[in-house]
Amino acid sequence: MEKRDHIETREEYRTKENEVQEWSAYQKLSDNVLFTSLDKILNLGRANSLWYLLFGTACCAIELMQTGGPRADLDRFGSVFRPTPRQCDLIIIAGTVTLKMASRIKILYDQMPEPKYVISMGSCANCGGLFDLGYSVLRGIDKVIPVDVYVPGCPPRPEALTEGLLVLQQKVKNEKFLVKEKKSI
Ligand code: SF4
Repeated sequence: MEKRDHIETREEYRTKENEVQEWSAYQKLSDNVLFTSLDKILNLGRANSLWYLLFGTACCAIELMQTGGPRADLDRFGSVFRPTPRQCDLIIIAGTVTLKMASRIKILYDQMPEPKYVISMGSCANCGGLFDLGYSVLRGIDKVIPVDVYVPGCPPRPEALTEGLLVLQQKVKNEKFLVKEKKSI
């Protein structure tokens, strides 16, 4: 059969036109449709909206306030403070924790909705720090509540706390949201 490179009949013209339309529709779709997993899309939102409790126990809290302020600006990561644990995803333990305060922190933690996260900020919250020989000081908040990220330093600078938040974001992004992970202390 003789090979032709031009369109002759109306039928052929219509077929060609349909092919062109299908191709342009496919191209438009591939520019606007994204395939992903449910975990990834949920975790993207959760990692970028970690609201933290407006709370501090000692001098590290000053650095926490500085980190939330305009220079370090935690808001740019979607992290804003809330004055009630019932609206928080994150509690940052900023400062020395006395034995008396530890039970109050546990109550605040229990009031937070799941899934919830803890950043231990500074040597005192991590292990007692300067005051670890004090009779009234708790040697690490992880004895009371489970900690996700430890930020070292006395006090940690705002950059260090920001780094801690970024590490936590990465952890949240890698979670399987629909599988409940059991945390223990
Ligand atoms: S780690 Fe240092 S700055 Fe932070 S609460 Fe303890 S003594 Fe204060």
